[in-house]
Amino acid sequence: MSRQTFLIVGASLAGAKAAAELRERGFDGRVVLIGSEPERPYERPPLSKDYLRGESEREKAYVHEQGFYEQHEIELLTGTTVSEIDPGSSRIKLADGAELAFDRLLLTTGAEPRRIPVPGAELEGIFYLRTLADCDALRARIDAGGHAVVVGAGWIGSEVAASARQRGCEVTMIDPLKLPNERIFGPKIGTFYRDLHAQHGVELLLGQGVEAFEGDGAVARVRTSGGRAVECDFAVVGIGVAPRVDLARDAALETDNGTVVDEQLRTSMPNVFAAGDVANAWHPFFGRRIRVEHWANALNQGPAAARAMLGEPVSYDRIPYFFSDQYEVGMEYSGYATEWDEVVFRGDPQAGEFVAFWLKDGRVLAGMNVNVWDVNEHVQALIRSRQPVDLAALRDPDTPLTALVGEPSS
Ligand SMILES: Cc1cc2nc3c(=O)[nH]c(=O)nc-3n(C[C@H](O)[C@H](O)[C@H](O)COP(=O)(O)OP(=O)(O)OC[C@H]3O[C@@H](n4cnc5c(N)ncnc54)[C@H](O)[C@@H]3O)c2cc1C
Repeated sequence: MSRQTFLIVGASLAGAKAAAELRERGFDGRVVLIGSEPERPYERPPLSKDYLRGESEREKAYVHEQGFYEQHEIELLTGTTVSEIDPGSSRIKLADGAELAFDRLLLTTGAEPRRIPVPGAELEGIFYLRTLADCDALRARIDAGGHAVVVGAGWIGSEVAASARQRGCEVTMIDPLKLPNERIFGPKIGTFYRDLHAQHGVELLLGQGVEAFEGDGAVARVRTSGGRAVECDFAVVGIGVAPRVDLARDAALETDNGTVVDEQLRTSMPNVFAAGDVANAWHPFFGRRIRVEHWANALNQGPAAARAMLGEPVSYDRIPYFFSDQYEVGMEYSGYATEWDEVVFRGDPQAGEFVAFWLKDGRVLAGMNVNVWDVNEHVQALIRSRQPVDLAALRDPDTPLTALVGEPSS
């Protein structure tokens, strides 16, 4: 049999981890990892945190050290965009017209920032943050100082606001919700994060959106739906991301809020797979499809897709997990809660150290630990058990979470 070729489109965390996994599992065919960006694969979380603030080295952000891809015979094509997939002939086309045939294809094309559709959005000095290049430009602007308007109080906006404050900028953060992330976490967590930013000197304009950016060539003012005109030196927009599905859609693969895959991370074409931010994957534990836009999902789903490409049995059922760091507050969130009956707290948010649990019918759907560590694994076990929990014990910091975990039920 001739040597097989496995192509991976998207050279970021999910793609790089998938390529490495193929080699770790002994795949000796051709592995080609293709990415539009000029950089070798890197991780994005430092771009709104330590790297943005100039506190960590660029080298620390890369997924693998220089030389890794060559050593493992992974053909890394950076600065190379795939423009088309032809699933019928199992070929892809590159932007320069070259073609490559594949036996298996993995799509790890990720997501891109949503643009804000208001007048003045094209002015200079309005930043988005997704790539190292975006981060380098924003970092230089933050270092020059002045007043930043951050549009969007979600995780990216909040982390940028915190980093800009820590670097001495004046910061105004604007969001149409009354509290940061209120829709996902409810009012108490929203209040906690609002107060955290206010205590660090961020001006919060909540319950109002951006109507226009104004300025002569460069942004100088942001008009809000609440009637405010905020003078600024630059603005950062963090209003969410959209999965990059163009390639999949144009190839007639099923797409719906991402590239649709089953629990083996296989698309509607049997030799094409997808993982990471772009994949809307069937989740056997939740019994529905979910698309997760977080680091841990890219880290774990990439290798899982690689195993599926090799024909190994895969059923990707990890509980979604993410983390965020803002000022002196670190948090981890596990689970998937779209509706809940109540939120129970272990510890006091006012004291800045607590675990919050989202419950439905007495069962834990999700948990967030804030400045409390080494509990995330137990929170996940509680979610996985699907057992009703004793609320008094859940609230009581002296009852170990391990004591509350029942036997998992399917
Ligand atoms: C600033 C920032 C901070 C973050 N912080 C956190 C955090 O604290 N915690 C957390 O859990 N998550 C965080 N995330 C989210 C996390 O980084 C993403 O979930 C993760 O990057 C997803 O990885 P991915 O490999 O699926 O896709 P991406 O990282 O989006 O990479 C996709 C890659 O594919 C390339 N590509 C796309 N189309 C093509 C094509 N046609 N041809 C070639 N290449 C293509 C793109 O150029 C890109 O390099 C953060 C994200 C950002 C931007």
